[in-house]
Amino acid sequence: MDASDRGKNDIVFLGAAGTVTGSRFLLRHGEKEVLVDAGLFQGPRVWRERNWDDFPLPLEHIEAVIITHAHLDHIGYLPRLYRAGFRGPVFLTHTSADLAEIVLRDSAKIQVEDTEFAKKKGYSRHKDPQPLYDESDAEGVLTLLQTVNFFDPVQVIEGVTAEFFPAGHILGSASVGVEFFGSRVLFSGDISGGDHPLLLGPTDIPAGVWNAVVLESTYGNRRHPIPDDSFERAIARTIERGGTVVIPAFAVDRTELVLVAIREAIKRGTIPDVPVFVDSPMATKAMAVYAEAMARGDVDIRPEKHDPTMLNPGQLTIVTTVEASKALADEKGCIIISASGMATGGRVMHHLKRLLPSPLNTVVLVGYQAVGTKGAQILGGADSITIHGETVTVAAEVVDAEGFSVHAGQQGLLQWMVSADTPPEQVLLVHGEDDAREGLAKALRTEQGLHAVLPDYQQAITLGVQAKSEKAP
Ligand SMILES: [Zn+2]
Repeated sequence: MDASDRGKNDIVFLGAAGTVTGSRFLLRHGEKEVLVDAGLFQGPRVWRERNWDDFPLPLEHIEAVIITHAHLDHIGYLPRLYRAGFRGPVFLTHTSADLAEIVLRDSAKIQVEDTEFAKKKGYSRHKDPQPLYDESDAEGVLTLLQTVNFFDPVQVIEGVTAEFFPAGHILGSASVGVEFFGSRVLFSGDISGGDHPLLLGPTDIPAGVWNAVVLESTYGNRRHPIPDDSFERAIARTIERGGTVVIPAFAVDRTELVLVAIREAIKRGTIPDVPVFVDSPMATKAMAVYAEAMARGDVDIRPEKHDPTMLNPGQLTIVTTVEASKALADEKGCIIISASGMATGGRVMHHLKRLLPSPLNTVVLVGYQAVGTKGAQILGGADSITIHGETVTVAAEVVDAEGFSVHAGQQGLLQWMVSADTPPEQVLLVHGEDDAREGLAKALRTEQGLHAVLPDYQQAITLGVQAKSEKAP
């Protein structure tokens, strides 16, 4: 680092710049560094390879990490930091910590399994491929977690404080205001449009001048489709004709959303009260975290949802053992919710193998299906797919149920920005493909007169500091 840089504050974009994954933002003041989010790059290989890049700066200067929420693209790099020697505190909300435990252990297992698989098949370009991290790195970094309450400012390191505000995206998710050596920076994290069925909407932007707002832009250029009843109609006609519904769903948050949607449809009488099975060990663990938070009445949960029985549509069975999972083959006229959400592995593959060949059954997709996944193949109308080396005919009905997004659309993002009492000095757009953040930047400039910036990967941007008069006693 250039000596002339010492003393000024900047932010370096080490991920989620021009893409949605790999959120990592480094706040820097001389040799003092705090990392906000430590996410994995996911998706196409060119992005995933960045997980193996060394940070452009020496790691030993990172003194602490702040985490907005427990999705893998925000926390999945933590065990890698641990493996590289990081031993500082990691600040996050209580429920983010509970979910991080589940997500990181699973991620470590997958990293190790993928490496073993590559070794066996000779896929890797390396002679002795090593995992990005393993279970011991995940366990190690879990010992560094320091939980914080929403709305309680916490000292991160000397000269740096952070305050977490509910963001409404998944349980425990936060927008985080950071006071960093005289600069005030607000990280939106991922925020909802206020329509999460269990969680309150994002907190209004806290008062005062923000030198920068780091804003997500996943759906920055589009409006969400108006939710329709395709989800419940698909379930109703499948049950009617004696078929089974299988719903591949992400283990964290999406399973809970689907359960609540089924419960509400049963209450409305649009689908019959049928047996519902949750068949995913990881989803079961995440559900327990949600249920406890609902029973406690956590501040980010809607007051009318402070009751864990709301996760039970009526006839809910949590499938625990492999034997019980296999026994579901004998069930007809039921709903099976299972992971993974994009049919890339997990127990859902067995159900798909069994249910896809019959036109009586239905696969309901409730989340994003990345290119190259079995989920995307099914969604794209493939006549057959390969599961565990076998060709499986797709005769079942396939329904893409929209309306399950937990990200704000453009309108929601703009609304959140107008909640600021003072316009921020700059809005740094992250966590979106370029067309999404360009669309949002244009709207922020023309509709709100804001200074919107699209940072590049590894770009450093200088932060303003608070006006002297504000700091005077
Ligand atoms: Zn997220």
